[in-house]
Amino acid sequence: MSKQKFKTEVSQLLNLLIHSLYSHSEIFLRELVSNSSDALDKLKYLSLTDDSLKKIEFTPRIDIRIQEAGEGTLLVEDNGIGMNKEELADSLGTIARSGTKNFLETLSGDAKKDSNLIGKFGVGFYSCFMVADKVEVISRKAGEDDAWKWTSSGSTGFSIEAAERAAQGTTVILHLNETGKEYSSQWKVRSIIKKYSDHIAFPIHLHWEQSTGSGEEKKTEQKDEQVNAASALWKRPKTEITDEEYSEFYKTIGHDSEEPMLRIHTQAEGVLEYTTLFFVPKTAPMDMYQADYTPGVKLYVKRVFITDDEKELMPVWLRFIRGIIDSEDLPLNVSREILQQNKILANIRDASVKKLLAEFKKLSENEEKYAEFTAQYNRPLKEGLYSDWNNRDEILPLVRYKSTAVEGWTSLASYKARMPEEQKSIYYLTGDREEGLRKSPLLSAYTAKGYEVLLMDDDIDEFVTPMIGPFEGKDFKAINRSGAIDDLKTDDDKKKENEAEPVVEKIKTILGDTVKDVVASVRLTEAPSCLLADEGAPSEHLRQMLKAMGQAELPEAAFILEINPDHPVVQGLKNSSDEDLDSDIAHLLYEQALLVEGVSLKDPLEFASRINRVAAKAY
Ligand code: ADP
Repeated sequence: MSKQKFKTEVSQLLNLLIHSLYSHSEIFLRELVSNSSDALDKLKYLSLTDDSLKKIEFTPRIDIRIQEAGEGTLLVEDNGIGMNKEELADSLGTIARSGTKNFLETLSGDAKKDSNLIGKFGVGFYSCFMVADKVEVISRKAGEDDAWKWTSSGSTGFSIEAAERAAQGTTVILHLNETGKEYSSQWKVRSIIKKYSDHIAFPIHLHWEQSTGSGEEKKTEQKDEQVNAASALWKRPKTEITDEEYSEFYKTIGHDSEEPMLRIHTQAEGVLEYTTLFFVPKTAPMDMYQADYTPGVKLYVKRVFITDDEKELMPVWLRFIRGIIDSEDLPLNVSREILQQNKILANIRDASVKKLLAEFKKLSENEEKYAEFTAQYNRPLKEGLYSDWNNRDEILPLVRYKSTAVEGWTSLASYKARMPEEQKSIYYLTGDREEGLRKSPLLSAYTAKGYEVLLMDDDIDEFVTPMIGPFEGKDFKAINRSGAIDDLKTDDDKKKENEAEPVVEKIKTILGDTVKDVVASVRLTEAPSCLLADEGAPSEHLRQMLKAMGQAELPEAAFILEINPDHPVVQGLKNSSDEDLDSDIAHLLYEQALLVEGVSLKDPLEFASRINRVAAKAY
């Protein structure tokens, strides 16, 4: 028998669990039953589709046995797909779930005590070490002859040895510890199964020993009873399903311990017959921003599980949705390749997206509740704006923005309702921090006119907003681009700008190629200068973001320098004939604008010398 060590993250997780989840120890049973249910789902599917497994005689079931009630051993047994030697080592010796490791690394301090957070990533199998000081797993993989026994007492590692098992499946044997003793009571176990696993689609049989009489008369009888309803919850009439049942169903399939934020149960009958039961988690899934996120929607055909690993079931931007799709029309032996281009599935998917959008819209009528949704899912919605063009008109009203006019969030509809009549476009400013955006010198020209500016500090706003197209006839215009300001100019302003032509020319000559262009603009009220990105060019923020993401570097953008013809420094420059001073001032107008944009100077020493030369002349 070879002894193997746990991967470090498993040891960490075990420690965490043992210290933080004790008050919730009963969830171990939910986790084991849901593993068994998954194993049965998988074998049921393979026994229909895989020739080598078709001969397996198989009535799926889960058995829970309370043995030697006094000493306390609890067995959870299934006749599902099973695991071979390698799978036992891999599945139970490492944390398979993506994101778990990162999550563990980021957990610190109080977060470690938060069982909700821990429940988020499905502690799964390891939760049994809360109630057992030794765990054995005997498993035989479907289609293989050998069985194996995995043994561990939790803290250090595990060992695997050859074992016996009459048929395929898995038995988990828990040697209950002090905390776990209570789970040798059939009443306790029965009530937990009812609470957590009633909706499991396979029969769960409870076996226990019942003693009658005492002393010499004492008789012990073996009892056995099916304790769950064993019908697919989503197929039952909606009116007969309680909130608790929905909630427990969600927790099992969503690997979550929180209540869901929203549930959407659709039983469609018509051209296509299918059932969907979707949930929006209260907290966005941990791996939502990882490329290898785990898809949250399972596909069933006529109640037979087909796959839980198919990203095509939902558009990527809806990857936070948890739930099931059960189709009556797909063939049972549908292969993955067929799935991906299947018309029926595509139709179900489109209808599901529409349904979800309609529900989000309903939710948005309750401002308080919708703020919670926005806090978690605003960003995926924005992704939907560019990746799901067909639904753009439904998604756009659901997205929320920060704005100069309000605290918290605003919808575009409320923005538009607040617009003065003469306002031509929807103005926005992108950047990486809200506080920075609120202080931007670019805002004053708009706010002075009573025009509101949307403040977009989400890194994808920069990509997405220019692609949105108009909202109810109003275009979006970025105020750090050269185009937006034209909206604001009066004839008077244009005159003023024309008058600034000589000083503009003067600065252009001094700065030469350093800038793309110099323009005068009345939009600046306090600052003497600022930088503009060319209408079509990437802004400095985007350039730095792409660089940080390791993307190919964009060519350094040459900026348009905008000057404020009313500012005393610009006025001074206009009237001066001191060539050295003029050169310093022109460069300083440019360099301070760079600094305000958060761009580091190429030659800080030269900048300092300029400041000092100018300052010396002030005396
Ligand atoms: P999760 O179920 O969240 O993936 P677990 O820690 O509960 O995480 O289980 C890890 C893996 O071990 C499962 O994904 C599965 O591959 C395997 N496994 C666990 N229990 C069983 C079982 N009863 N039958 C077959 N495989 C199982």
